[in-house]
Amino acid sequence: RHSRQRLVVGNWKMNGSLAENASLLNGITAHWQGAEGVETALCPPYVYLSQAAEALSGGPIKLGAQTVSEYSNGAYTGEVSGAMLADLGCRYVIVGHNERRRMQGETSDRVAEKFHAAQQAGLTPILCVGESEQERDAGMALETIGHQLLVVVKRVGLEAFARAVVAYEPVWAVGTGKTASPEQAEEVHRFIRAELGELGARTQILYGGSVKPGNAEQLFALPDIDGALLGGASLNADDFVAICRAAA
Ligand code: PEP
Repeated sequence: RHSRQRLVVGNWKMNGSLAENASLLNGITAHWQGAEGVETALCPPYVYLSQAAEALSGGPIKLGAQTVSEYSNGAYTGEVSGAMLADLGCRYVIVGHNERRRMQGETSDRVAEKFHAAQQAGLTPILCVGESEQERDAGMALETIGHQLLVVVKRVGLEAFARAVVAYEPVWAVGTGKTASPEQAEEVHRFIRAELGELGARTQILYGGSVKPGNAEQLFALPDIDGALLGGASLNADDFVAICRAAA
């Protein structure tokens, strides 16, 4: 097996409250035994970053954010810069999640700017790519993903992927309970690695889309899958820890 470090990232999306987060964070940190070998990060909503930073401080679980502004500072009402996220202790930031591409109108060009802004601030971008169900049915999955990657590569250069993570998230599998089959996932991961050229062998590539304790082990057994980006399963302490243990 390759020597890439396994990574599991939890994306809380727009969920939680001070009280719910406290119990979730406590549930995760209290039952961490057996997951020590994995690299892990949690991505709470912006307003809860401080709370999570405090709860996770000194422990093995890193902090990430769900998105970042493409701008560095100034008159961008409602936006949060990479420097601010780094200031709060973030190590990672998700860019190009399909919910933001579809619902916040994030084009691949804007995603590329966000990727760049994240790296400028010293954060590790987790670049999400993935095809819709119609694109898969039309036989366009790899073409779609190749284009999403190429727009970013053109902006930042291939070398930038030495300090980045890619997450393959088929849109039809995110939050739907449907998971890509091991063959479908492995095909795309192998393709992404090839598209990244020489760096492909080193870049961590995560799978995301309805990963649960029951299917995690099978996905992590595949040679080109280095971990998972979790939505729903990251909101349950037992499920999150179980998946981290499967990756460790
Ligand atoms: C996600 O939102 O990145 C995700 C993978 O969600 P879920 O695990 O709920 O499908």
